[in-house]
Amino acid sequence: MQGLLVSLISEELLSILACPKCKGEVELDEKMGGLVCKNCALLYEIRDGIPIMLIEEAKPLTKEQKNADE
Ligand SMILES: [Zn+2]
Repeated sequence: MQGLLVSLISEELLSILACPKCKGEVELDEKMGGLVCKNCALLYEIRDGIPIMLIEEAKPLTKEQKNADE
């Protein structure tokens, strides 16, 4: 599945997406299959190639997940 997300979610799309909670940047995290806001420690899942940018749909990250890609 690696690479699939990247092809679906272009950098251009990423650059216009923002966290709905803090309006900050989100980062694509292929391992978790979604977009991560580090400020809020939330994961916005990508379903069928569409990022779900809703606070109520976001999943809270654990500390481990938050630090995983550092
Ligand atoms: Zn945020």
